[in-house]
Amino acid sequence: MNQNLDQHAVILPPAMLGMLGGGQLGRFFVIAAHEMGYQVTVLDPDANSPAGKIADVHICAAFDDKAALLSLANTCAAISTEFENVPADSLSFLAEIKPVRPSAYSVAIAQHRVSEKNFLKHAGLPVAPFAVINEIEDLPNDDSDIYPAILKVARFGYDGKGQSRVKNQHEAQLAFMQFEREECVLEKMLKLDYELSVVLARDAHGNVAAFPTAENSHLNGILDVSIVPARGSDAISHQAQKLAVLVAEKLAYTGVMGVEFFVCKGELLVNEIAPRPHNSGHYTIDACVTNQFEQQVRVMTGLPLGNSYQHSSAVMVNLLGDIWPADEKVAPEWQHALNNSQLKMHLYGKQEARQGRKMGHFTVINASRDEAIKQAMQVRADLNIGR
Ligand code: ADP
Ligand code: MG
Repeated sequence: MNQNLDQHAVILPPAMLGMLGGGQLGRFFVIAAHEMGYQVTVLDPDANSPAGKIADVHICAAFDDKAALLSLANTCAAISTEFENVPADSLSFLAEIKPVRPSAYSVAIAQHRVSEKNFLKHAGLPVAPFAVINEIEDLPNDDSDIYPAILKVARFGYDGKGQSRVKNQHEAQLAFMQFEREECVLEKMLKLDYELSVVLARDAHGNVAAFPTAENSHLNGILDVSIVPARGSDAISHQAQKLAVLVAEKLAYTGVMGVEFFVCKGELLVNEIAPRPHNSGHYTIDACVTNQFEQQVRVMTGLPLGNSYQHSSAVMVNLLGDIWPADEKVAPEWQHALNNSQLKMHLYGKQEARQGRKMGHFTVINASRDEAIKQAMQVRADLNIGR
């Protein structure tokens, strides 16, 4: 970070903001920034990226293209990222010229499972038992109580990709070889009571606004449904918020982050950190005074954080490419969903529907959480999700 840059300067509309990454998170960022009167330049190598298509300027280039990064830094007042695998070096390069939030340091920790786990452990935060695997000899033998376990590649994993469930050392060896002996984390497979996440924003002064805790269920390693506020123990939901704030503080984090938790035998464990808005925080668009993307704009521009109060219970359901008919020109049968006056539909404008690809989501809001769950599950079933 360039110490000469004024990290507390306030950037007002219609300044140009820079976004690394053009996926759906970037698209929602562009929408939030536009609503507030800012302009946005998106850098993404995909000519058809969801955010690039609606940005004021799309720089179509690789995330490590120096000329493209220079142009981003020279034309934007501040820069953020929506893509956690953006090279940390690119963020450091940009930070010499303009404010970058979150910092290269915190993104570097969150994007590498080994540094992430070590950071959490040293910060005194509870995590699942794990071993770092650099070589095949590092895999514990069958006497170890780590099995059954999940082998996870340290880098570039997301949505359950780069993960393999293994019952013993032999299976772990095969999986490790399949991952081409890339550095991995071997994590004990836990019997989860349920999963939670907390999205929060932390500004450059250290002020924090945490959103209510979401209860998440996954399908094939991909987020399926978020219910907010989470059911289950309020004390645990509250504790999850406290731990998420602690993670942000220990990381000296500036920006929006998502922290995923496991609840196992009634105890919270931190699963992972996302250094960006989080899929489980999409409910904030329709159910909170300020949504997670507006918070991202606010942190970047040095504005005070918005109120994160949740005014309606919310249930978010992801729409994956799996429910698109094989004929790409046909869309799923949306009518029933769109007939519901409490349902907010969000489609990301992606042309190609692939298995497991996040194409959109919907959120049902209601004063009653039970009613929101009932309606969302009905629409989810009608769309054949999970069948
Ligand atoms: P990703 O980066 O793909 O989100 P995660 O580590 O969060 O990777 O794993 C995805 C999902 O797989 C989790 O949300 C959880 O449902 C399941 N999972 C991951 N690790 C474990 C574990 N140690 N025990 C039980 N379930 C796990
Ligand atoms: Mg995860």
